[in-house]
Amino acid sequence: MIANPAPAITSITHPQLDASNLSLSLLRLDEVHPLISGNKWYKLKYNLIKAREEGHRTLLTFGGAFSNHIYATAAAGKEFGFRTVGVIRGEKNDPFNPTLQFAVDQGMQLVYVSREDYRKKNSPAFQDWLTSQLGQCYVIPEGGSNALAVMGCTEILPHEHSYQYIASCVGTGGTLAGLLESNQDQATVLGFAALKGGSFLYEEVNQLTRVYSKKTYQNYQIVEDYHFGGYARANVELVDFINTFKREHGIQLDPIYTGKMLYGIFDMASAGYFPSGSHILAVHSGGLQGIRGFNERYRKKKLRIIVN
Ligand SMILES: *Cc1c(COP(=O)(O)O)cnc(C)c1O
Repeated sequence: MIANPAPAITSITHPQLDASNLSLSLLRLDEVHPLISGNKWYKLKYNLIKAREEGHRTLLTFGGAFSNHIYATAAAGKEFGFRTVGVIRGEKNDPFNPTLQFAVDQGMQLVYVSREDYRKKNSPAFQDWLTSQLGQCYVIPEGGSNALAVMGCTEILPHEHSYQYIASCVGTGGTLAGLLESNQDQATVLGFAALKGGSFLYEEVNQLTRVYSKKTYQNYQIVEDYHFGGYARANVELVDFINTFKREHGIQLDPIYTGKMLYGIFDMASAGYFPSGSHILAVHSGGLQGIRGFNERYRKKKLRIIVN
């Protein structure tokens, strides 16, 4: 049903990397699909297959109003012939932000729930209530992280590689879990937390790999120093970094995930974290749809990601 893409690997040259004798490459998941972008393609793949096998007509999932996962699920539903329902945290805003406008344009039905109810989203009672309102649905958790998502994410890395470090962004941990499962003990895996207080993510990731393979891994680290104030927070330093990176390398980063990770990798490189001669592969997990909404939200603070 769904053939895997073969993402390109782009090598990044920069005097700061040369100075520490490091090689850095980007695995370009941002290019795997024009709409089902980045890691979300891999996270959805086996969920779509399962939903179809089970005869479901509707996918139901959860997210914030700017969510890459909501965007990708809406596009995947349209492409593969499912109805989609997005349960959105918080109040309806008029007009729609660009993410929700896109979702609605793809045919997604939006259901708004209060922040308080949203916290109950994984409870059976809440899900029963949803299906009583909406009919039978295939439910994908927030961020798409379940065992099938982990399975999809085991297909991200090249089979054979000689990198000492794999770097990836972490939101809910599903992507990192899949990377760990396919990497086994080849490289050290660094997960850059997009949110503040990311130490709970070890338990999330361990739980996901335990469910998937009954294993937990030791050869990974959650890097907690580059959240820039918290999830979707940003400052001028981050935005300048993203804009400079675009100008120097021609590659667009997003401000929620990949910009923070690349900033972190460069910062750790200059602090001497990586031994001389290390080869680093950083997963560009996409997320570029979020830039328009980011620029709108931060207009008053004069933060602006330059696109094109
Ligand atoms: C969703 C997302 C992530 C986080 O993935 P998890 O599997 O939830 O950790 C990372 N990067 C981008 C660009 C994303 O859209």
